[in-house]
Amino acid sequence: MNTLFDTLTGRIFDIKRCSVHDGSGIRTVVFLKGCFLRCRWCHNPESIDFQPQILFAEDKCTVCGDCVTVCPHECHTVSSGIHSFDRTDCMRCMKCVAACAFGALKESGSLYTIETILALLEKDRGYFAESGGGLTLSGGEPLAQPHFSIALLKAAKERGFHTCIETCGQVDFSFLEEAAHHTDIFLFDCKESDPARHKEYTGVDGLKIQDNLRRLDALVAKIILRCPIIPTYNDCPEHFDFIARFSEELKNVQEIHLMPFHPYASHKNKQLAEPYLMGDLPAPEKEQKQTWRDALQARVSRPVRL
Ligand code: SF4
Ligand code: SF4
Ligand code: SF4
Repeated sequence: MNTLFDTLTGRIFDIKRCSVHDGSGIRTVVFLKGCFLRCRWCHNPESIDFQPQILFAEDKCTVCGDCVTVCPHECHTVSSGIHSFDRTDCMRCMKCVAACAFGALKESGSLYTIETILALLEKDRGYFAESGGGLTLSGGEPLAQPHFSIALLKAAKERGFHTCIETCGQVDFSFLEEAAHHTDIFLFDCKESDPARHKEYTGVDGLKIQDNLRRLDALVAKIILRCPIIPTYNDCPEHFDFIARFSEELKNVQEIHLMPFHPYASHKNKQLAEPYLMGDLPAPEKEQKQTWRDALQARVSRPVRL
C-alpha cells in the first residue's frame, strides 16, 4: 500500500545495484546529491552540489550541433569542428541532455520517489536474502536530504530490507539519531585527526563529526569506521594513532575499513569543468595499502579491512 512518504522525492545522482563494497552482502547503493564538506580527494565530485549538473564527456561528442539548436541560452557552440560549453547562463533545463543522442551530455541529479527505489529493491530481494545484503544510502551526504533519506530507510526497514547509511558525520545530530531507528549499520567516515588539517582538506575542522560519532555510539548503533588514507595527507603515524585511540574508545565499532586514495575523480572534475585538486598523486601500490592495514591492525582490537 502506498503512503504519503512513498511519493517523497530525493535528488539522486546514481543508483548501483549488486554492489559488494558498501556494507554486508550484495547491495543496492543509492547516491544522494549534496554534501556540506569539500574533500579535496572526493571520489564523486558530482555529489557535492545540491543542484542538478551536466557532465560533458568530450570523447563521446561527435560535434553534431544538436545541443546548440535546443539550448535557449546559447551555452553550447560548435565552431571549426570544435564543441564548446559555457555554463555561465545555464538554467539546468536539460534540453541539451535530451537532445544529445551520443551520450556526451549526462544529467547528474534526477528526482526519484521512495516508491521507485522500493520497486528497485524488490527486484533484488532474493540476492539480499542469500547474501545478507540490502539498501545502502551514500552520496554526497545522505543526511543532507534528511527527510527523504530517513523516510527511505524507514520504508525499506518496514519491508524487511537490511539498511546501511554512509555518512561523513557533518550533520545535525538529530538526523543521525532519527536515522538510527531505521539503520542496521552506519558507515561513518574518519578523515583526519588534526582540526587544522581537517579544515584545510575538507572545509570543516571535524570536531562536530567526532562529537556526533561519540553520541551515535552511545545510542548503541552498529558502526563501521571508514578511513580514507591519502598519501602525503594523512598516511602518518599520528593519524593512525588517532584512529586507534578513537575506535577503541567507542563501544560499537564493528570493523575499520581503510579507503585508499584513487585518482579516478580527475576525469569527472574535467567533465564538470571544475578544477581537480590532487595534482598527479598516484593510487598507492598494493604493498603500500597492506602496510597501512598492518600498521593500524597492530594498534586496534577490531578487524581492519582494505
Ligand atoms: S549534441 Fe552531444 S554529440 Fe552533439 S555536439 Fe552536443 S554534446 Fe556533442
Ligand atoms: S541545460 Fe538547458 S540552459 Fe543549460 S546548457 Fe543545456 S539546454 Fe542550455
Ligand atoms: S564527505 Fe564524501 S561526498 Fe562529501 S566531499 Fe567528502 S568525500 Fe565527497
